[in-house]
Amino acid sequence: MRPLLKPALSRTWRDTETLQFGTVHRHARVVEQAGPAFCSFLGLLDGTRERPALLAAGEQLGLGLDRTGELLDSLEKAGLLDDAVATREALARYPQPHRELLAPDLASLSLIHPEPEAAPGVLRARAAARIEVRGAGRVGVAVAAVLAAGGVGTVTVVDGGRVTHGDCSPAGLPPSEVGRLRTTAARSAVHRAAGHGLAERQRHSPGGSPAPPPSLVVLAPRDGGGAFAGGAFEARRLMRAGVPHLYVGVLEHLGVVGPLVLPGASACGDCLALTRTDEDAAWPRLLAQLAEDGPGRPRTPACDTALATAVAGLAALHVQLHLDGARPPSVDGWCEVSAADGLARRLRLRGHPDCGCLWQPLAVR
Ligand SMILES: [Zn+2]
Repeated sequence: MRPLLKPALSRTWRDTETLQFGTVHRHARVVEQAGPAFCSFLGLLDGTRERPALLAAGEQLGLGLDRTGELLDSLEKAGLLDDAVATREALARYPQPHRELLAPDLASLSLIHPEPEAAPGVLRARAAARIEVRGAGRVGVAVAAVLAAGGVGTVTVVDGGRVTHGDCSPAGLPPSEVGRLRTTAARSAVHRAAGHGLAERQRHSPGGSPAPPPSLVVLAPRDGGGAFAGGAFEARRLMRAGVPHLYVGVLEHLGVVGPLVLPGASACGDCLALTRTDEDAAWPRLLAQLAEDGPGRPRTPACDTALATAVAGLAALHVQLHLDGARPPSVDGWCEVSAADGLARRLRLRGHPDCGCLWQPLAVR
């Protein structure tokens, strides 16, 4: 390990002797009686020296060997140190310029996962993850592009047909792609987001063998109504296969993110559909008509660009949190963002007693 003072943290003086690391109050750390020798020592924590060299340097600065050791330990315990070696190795998995693009993302991870080698480990897990996004509309392609930019190693987008004007958004497909096959255009968007690095990575992956199942599937139907449909056929297949999946979409003026379903461990789309049916008995009938290409469909489905972008960003964040080992708020719940008032709220979802997705295996047999 080569200790590096977290580059993500600012260093400011509260008074002539009190040094503060970080600005956001909740995470800020304060060092009192920070004298000149201490400050000179901090300057040596640039990721070029191992611990023995730092101990010797501390002694030379007059800090004393034991005191320098304690100082290093307390800086690490306070979450102020990164390991420059682990950081470099995690970024080395990505080709340039993606490596440079990811530096601020890794800096952010280093604050959420403060132990010296934790954030590089999280990024390594993202690099190994495979995300499939179903739906190449305003929301779906933006989710895919953001995830690729954030370091997810394999991002694929599945859809049919050709790009229309309604599919385009600044975070997803540009208007110049209108008329191109949706899958081809979405692949380009994903590669662009990763600084074209992803294409290289995927070209070098071993071919021939069948692709392993995705780490998570994002269900982002172009027609946002599909995100409300819950227990759709494809979701049931994902449940059976044990593949985590996240619903996301915009319907009329409302954007939804969730539920993020961990099969057998959290409430599923069917649970949500059954809950909505409890509140409105006609709900399944309405949904069934939405799913058809009938006269009941709107001619111009509503989809506010800012709302679609916000929802895509939130969905990508929740996927990242899941990949990073956290439990996003869309698990056993869902988030709604309204274009009418800009408010975001989180609603709780319980497993529905009639669904059975959370029944214990013994009860099923
Ligand atoms: Zn369920």
